[in-house]
Amino acid sequence: MNKQIIIEHNAWDTLKELLKNFEKVLVVSSEDIYTLFKKEIEQKVVFENCDLYFVQDYRVEEALTLSKHLIVNYYECLVSIGGGTVNDTCKLAAKYSEKKLISIPTIISNDGVCSNTSVLKFDGERTDGLPSKSPDVVVIDIDLIKNSPKKYLKAGICDILSNYTALYDWDLAIKRGKEKTDDVAKMISSNSFWSLFNLPETIDEDLKIKITCESIVLSGVAMELKGNTRPCSGSEHLFNHAIVAHYPQIQVLHGYLVGLGALVSSILQNQNFNKLVRFLKYNEIDVRPSALGISKEIFIDAWLKARFTRPNRYTILNEIELTREKIEAIYKQIEEAY
Ligand SMILES: [Zn+2]
Repeated sequence: MNKQIIIEHNAWDTLKELLKNFEKVLVVSSEDIYTLFKKEIEQKVVFENCDLYFVQDYRVEEALTLSKHLIVNYYECLVSIGGGTVNDTCKLAAKYSEKKLISIPTIISNDGVCSNTSVLKFDGERTDGLPSKSPDVVVIDIDLIKNSPKKYLKAGICDILSNYTALYDWDLAIKRGKEKTDDVAKMISSNSFWSLFNLPETIDEDLKIKITCESIVLSGVAMELKGNTRPCSGSEHLFNHAIVAHYPQIQVLHGYLVGLGALVSSILQNQNFNKLVRFLKYNEIDVRPSALGISKEIFIDAWLKARFTRPNRYTILNEIELTREKIEAIYKQIEEAY
């Protein structure tokens, strides 16, 4: 089965044909999402060859239980319906069970849709980037994404901004002999960013959603090619990791933290901070610390800790001395930029 990416209106209508390829299919969702999309799921996803399975929580153990269920009951394919956490559970279960995976995101809020890593909990802690399986098929219904709360796609857009700063950091690591290049993965990550960043302001809304979804999928493909998150994750993501690890009370969508991280990284890298701000403003996305409920103290502390969250990831943070005063000045610059 070749990889298929279906991003269109009424995309779920393609499932009947797709699922005919399998004798036994397991449709996996959460009870909340199933309740929300009951009619659609029952009409367009669950056919005679399909059983239904609800994931209870988002722990590694749950993914392993699901993979055992797939193996002992001889399923050929699993269909994931839901947001990032359902998809991440299914991506890990698909890897361990070696089953085909069809992914149907109901929201798009980060670039994990098509990546081959999963973020799940283990021993109460949030893991980061467990190797998993990239979906064989991704089915994205444009209308569904359009009608979902705007904050999700906005967070997804922010997660794509990270490619700009992550690619700078990757180049830096290559220059210093710390890492090897992968030109195709780089090109895909770069194109994912620029195609979204350079969209004309007059673009039709549906086409914009389609291109945004394509960028998000492409970022995942870049990471899959590279075999890790390097093409889309640099110093801006280290800030996200520091907040998640040290300030769990801050409950902000991953993409927003990364968007704020990308603004800071662009300043540290001497890249075009003002252009990023203009882009965010145009898209009505506010990632200032104050808008995300991040105090100046937390902002400073998280940046001081960021570098140590993934010591093996060489970034601009390895090359500059980040003092409290410097971070405070950046905090002020960002707060005043809007
Ligand atoms: Zn991300």
